Amino acid sequence: MGSSVETLEFQAESRQLLQMVIHSIYSNKDIFLRELISNASDALDKLRLESLTESELEVDISDLHIVLDIDKDTRTLTIRDNGIGMSRDDVVELIGTIAKSGTASLLDKLKDAKDAAAAQSLIGQFGVGFYSAFMVADKVTLRTRRAGNSSGTWWESDGEGTYQIQEVDDLPVGTSVTLNLKPADSEDGLADYLAEWKIRQIVKQYSDFIRWPIRMATERTDADGAPSHTVDTLNSMKALWARPRSEVSDAEYTEFYKQISHDWLAPAETIHMRAEGTFEYEALLFIPAQAPFDLFSRETRPGVQLYVKRVFIMDDCDALMPNYLRFVKGVVDAHDLSLNISREILQHDRQIRGVRRRLVKKVLGALKAMQAGDAERYTELWAQFGRALKEGLIEDGDSIDVLLELVSAASTHDPEKPTTLREYVGRMKDGQDAIYYLTGETRAMVENSPHMEAFAAKEYEVLILTDPVDEIWTDQIEAFDGHRLQSVAKGQVDLDERADDDQEPGAEKAKREQDYAALLPWLTTTLSEHIKQVRLSSRLTTSAACIVGDAHDMTPNLEKMYRAMGQQMPTIKRTLELNPTHPLIAALRSAHETKPDDPALAEIAELVYGSALLAEGGELLDPARFTRLLTDHLPHPL
Ligand code: ADP
Ligand code: MG
Repeated sequence: MGSSVETLEFQAESRQLLQMVIHSIYSNKDIFLRELISNASDALDKLRLESLTESELEVDISDLHIVLDIDKDTRTLTIRDNGIGMSRDDVVELIGTIAKSGTASLLDKLKDAKDAAAAQSLIGQFGVGFYSAFMVADKVTLRTRRAGNSSGTWWESDGEGTYQIQEVDDLPVGTSVTLNLKPADSEDGLADYLAEWKIRQIVKQYSDFIRWPIRMATERTDADGAPSHTVDTLNSMKALWARPRSEVSDAEYTEFYKQISHDWLAPAETIHMRAEGTFEYEALLFIPAQAPFDLFSRETRPGVQLYVKRVFIMDDCDALMPNYLRFVKGVVDAHDLSLNISREILQHDRQIRGVRRRLVKKVLGALKAMQAGDAERYTELWAQFGRALKEGLIEDGDSIDVLLELVSAASTHDPEKPTTLREYVGRMKDGQDAIYYLTGETRAMVENSPHMEAFAAKEYEVLILTDPVDEIWTDQIEAFDGHRLQSVAKGQVDLDERADDDQEPGAEKAKREQDYAALLPWLTTTLSEHIKQVRLSSRLTTSAACIVGDAHDMTPNLEKMYRAMGQQMPTIKRTLELNPTHPLIAALRSAHETKPDDPALAEIAELVYGSALLAEGGELLDPARFTRLLTDHLPHPL
């Protein structure tokens, strides 16, 4: 032994922080091991670097490693590394004080923090690192020798305000941290850290990709019953994302993907990137080939894992991936974050937001490339994730342009093949100034809806949109590439005006309006319970009537969706449009002229309205009454 034992006090702030670490903050006590292994890993990195840059330093770097040692007799767990080590001054400086700037103000804020959650989110900005050992240990002993120094340092503390320190001679280079474990106490979140399986589990969960081997001696019983020791490496060390792209095979990517996603299929797309500069990170992202069954369940969160320098920090890091890309799996390893960073802090971190923007761009770019390169494969992928991607049109204002390019939709142009908006625009007719679409519950309902008639007659292409989310994004997006998006069930449609007819459409229209001058206001009054007004239509060719909304009205389908989600919705009254060339409408008009007081007229009006509602897939308020009226007025040939 060298000098005598000295007893020193922790710096005031350190003392406070220690008390907080011991008594409250972390509900997850397991992370102490992650912190200590991360320190050991840093120390190994530093030693290797120093051996390369300082030629006079004589150290052995042939077997850099971390060893975990469980001793049930003394109830201790030791974490040992043969890394850079610390000098006596280092120990006092690094362990005895919190040198980090801003700690004092952090502590002030912590005193004001209302609850444990607020405290935890604050502390996320600062590492508590080494001190987390005191969550699970009532005494911590550190033995360390700095590479290049002849003697080492022994340090011990119970975390209660003082520590003891002494110079010692016979230590190997590196550091060992021995924890005198508190008794296991499940109520306090204290697991049995003397249990080999528990240590294995924590290492696997948090430190699997640490680049140095983490070894543990384990006791096995031979066939003849004699105990023997073997040394196991607990971590896989395979952090694919940290290797250059050119050195990773497709098979390795696929294997890694399957491991983190629990998917049995290979991914559709792999994105591997590295950002250098002020905020360094690596990202390895995968677009699965098939949507998980719970893609649309409320609990599903974005699936990217966050690592800091190969230490696992959290699953489902929603700060890194927007909700509509929740199907993307993978890993982001950011180098300059604290291990204790919290979700709340991540959400507000400017650099993290920058990372997220970049990742979104990469993912959408990969989809775009697939769309251009392999349309068939893209269509399959869109069938899996299109519904989620369309949510981006509502959530992610920055990406609307790309997302609109990615949209793939069924169309009247080719019932077998979906189209992109860009392809649609390429087929637009002369004089057509809008992209037409119709939303509805099913494809058949949309295709057979009376609203489609005039568009079919004019051979204008109409997009068939049947996902619930279509109701919402089409409501919010005004245009694509300068072309208005227009529902065929909304607003006035005047395809006549633009047609190069040989007749005089204007004059003919005026005459019709005159013919119907009496019927329309009468119908508006008669049906006022259901509709706002009645007018003549130019969108119908065969049906008698249809119901249309104003340009900015919600569709009945959307109304229904909001109601299903429990929202109070006023019923929006729409407009009934009549086809003046239809025999029933013509007959109604002349009957109204000759016997305006006949009660049968109002019943026929109700039938016209009800049929129009049924034709678009709507639901009658009183189906029994409708059926009775219908049978009453049917001619009876039998
Ligand atoms: P952080 O790792 O965020 O710096 P810690 O409290 O975990 O905070 O550690 C404080 C410092 O103590 C480290 O930065 C490092 O310099 C030193 N240290 C801790 N553990 C070791 C170790 N095993 N080997 C060498 N130095 C260590
Ligand atoms: Mg640390």
